[in-house]
Amino acid sequence: MTKQGFEIADVAGTTTLNNGVEMPYLGLGVMNITNVPDAVVWAAEAGYRLFDTAMIYKNEAEVGKGIRATGLSRAEIFITSKCWNSDQGYDSALAAFDASLDRLGLDYLDLYLVHWPVAGTYKETWRALEALYRAERVRAIGVSNFMRHHLEDLLTGADVVPMVNQMEFHPLLVQQDLVDFCADAGVQYQAWSPLMSGRIAQVGSLHDLAARYDRTFAQVVLRWSLQKGVATIPKSSTRSRIEENACLFDFELSPDDVARIDALDAGKRVGPDPDDFDL
Ligand code: NDP
Repeated sequence: MTKQGFEIADVAGTTTLNNGVEMPYLGLGVMNITNVPDAVVWAAEAGYRLFDTAMIYKNEAEVGKGIRATGLSRAEIFITSKCWNSDQGYDSALAAFDASLDRLGLDYLDLYLVHWPVAGTYKETWRALEALYRAERVRAIGVSNFMRHHLEDLLTGADVVPMVNQMEFHPLLVQQDLVDFCADAGVQYQAWSPLMSGRIAQVGSLHDLAARYDRTFAQVVLRWSLQKGVATIPKSSTRSRIEENACLFDFELSPDDVARIDALDAGKRVGPDPDDFDL
């Protein structure tokens, strides 16, 4: 089910998570950004309010530094971090959360995710996230890289339905069945590697489409994601691209062109397979 119409007026637009928390549709992914504090400030100046980090990116302290440099109040900013695979399990996930907060220099997170569905431990990890949520130390909790069977398994016995599932998502990997399953379950889909980690330029037909809309191929792809109701967190270390990726709100793709991009789906990943990863 593709979301009909388009309700996000500008870069500050939010989606309401299943617990009522407002999460920006657009955010800056900070994995592999070299100049993190500067990039966070540039993004904030371009209107971004969501910053997506993780323990494994080893830049939470730099993200915290960048956030403080923006001059924005804590309430204006939405910070996501994630529980890495080696930290999964009940007690270790609680300790990992504290360590992430400490590095970020924050006293709460907006969103904390189970980074990957580590077999045998993700349910215990989820119990820890539920405890953190109940204790109001995090405003929303979710998962990442959970296929339908992982979600169905997690939901068996879970007290809290994940608010977000952060997944690889771009024109060559749509996984529409999973997008639909999450929408029906009240789990907001969020795209990682929306620009195929920089390889999106290789998809030739996007350039024709971009020319037709007088936009860049990156803008067309990010706009396509938003029109499908999928939140997105493109990464860039480059100020002009950070700004470009936020200019998505003065054009609209026709339903035919959304379908044209959908049709590029080839089940092609740029990252690990959630059913076969060794991380
Ligand atoms: P993206 O798909 O966002 O692509 C980033 C690459 O595209 C960079 O090389 C960047 O170059 C380039 N780029 C950005 N904007 C443009 C543009 N407008 N035109 C041309 N090139 C552009 O890659 P990521 O893999 O980093 O994914 C985004 C975020 O998703 C990560 O930063 C992370 O936060 C999250 N993520 C989560 C995962 C998970 O398991 N939950 C896994 C992987 C990522 P440059 O920087 O040089 O400008």
